[in-house]
Amino acid sequence: MLSVIIPAFNEEGNVRRTAETLGRVLGENNIDHEIVFINDGSSDKTWKIMKELAEKDKRITALNFSRNFGKESAIFAGLEHASGDCAVLFDCDLQFPAETIVEMYRIWESGGVDVVEGRKKSRGRENPVYKGFSLLFYKLIGSGSGLDMQDASDFKLMDRSVVDALCRMPERLTFFRAMSGWVGFNTEKVWFEVADREIGSSKWRPLQLVRFAVNNITSFTSAPLQLVTAFGVITFLVSIILGVNTLYNKFFGNSEAGFPTVIILQLLTSSIIMFSLGVIGYYISKIYEEIKQRPRYIIRDIVSQREDKDKNG
Ligand code: UDP
Ligand code: MG
Repeated sequence: MLSVIIPAFNEEGNVRRTAETLGRVLGENNIDHEIVFINDGSSDKTWKIMKELAEKDKRITALNFSRNFGKESAIFAGLEHASGDCAVLFDCDLQFPAETIVEMYRIWESGGVDVVEGRKKSRGRENPVYKGFSLLFYKLIGSGSGLDMQDASDFKLMDRSVVDALCRMPERLTFFRAMSGWVGFNTEKVWFEVADREIGSSKWRPLQLVRFAVNNITSFTSAPLQLVTAFGVITFLVSIILGVNTLYNKFFGNSEAGFPTVIILQLLTSSIIMFSLGVIGYYISKIYEEIKQRPRYIIRDIVSQREDKDKNG
């Protein structure tokens, strides 16, 4: 059986449509499946619709978060509640083509492949600034972690063994796209075209994206920490040169000309120290977050007709 995991945040216009599309496409192809919807603290009717769907259809499970925990948390809640032999992640806005799931499923079914990852053929309609930053972001993560992240998406079909491996990873601050690469396994790629979002709008705000990028870069590479060391070496070299120069000036005449040097040095070192402290502080804050061992999400309700869920729902 295939589990389709769908995080949704304020998707009242999409939930029913997505469930219908999946039911139709997977039904036509005779793929036994379940759908796990996760309502990530929506403020609209998303949960009401999900609940109705789950009450009517025994193949649909609906999880309700106690507040908005973010897509990453929703993904892991879905993975932990999926009961299929394989699971695929899907967006509620139908930007991923449902037909590609069939293609992925066939590859998995034929055996030997544990992860079938969807790669974006093109990125759909997107603003160029966003495109540029995302390119830089994936380059940084890729070089820091050795994972090929270009054109990566959350659209992935994973074997049960991969799902279990991901669920066993203990960290609280998760980044599914990179973690699913990190666990390894036999991976095959499938290319798909990102469709435009028809209903509702993208849930990302610019500041949120910056936070997302910084969070994930620091989760997957400690390069910024090494940058501090590099800065240290550079300033040391510069100060040796300036020191020699200052001494030369002192012994051979015009020493009052040294004032600019002092000022420049002071500016340079203090700015580097401040920057470095910021970087270190960031990592400390992440250690702090992880050490709290808070759950990634809190579920308020579960609606499901699966036997193993009856006691909760
Ligand atoms: N989403 C979520 N929690 C959030 C933000 C988004 O569960 O805090 C879901 C959203 O409902 C959708 C998916 O994540 O199903 C992708 O979100 P979106 O389409 O806004 O992102 P984009 O496609 O623009 O990257
Ligand atoms: Mg989208």
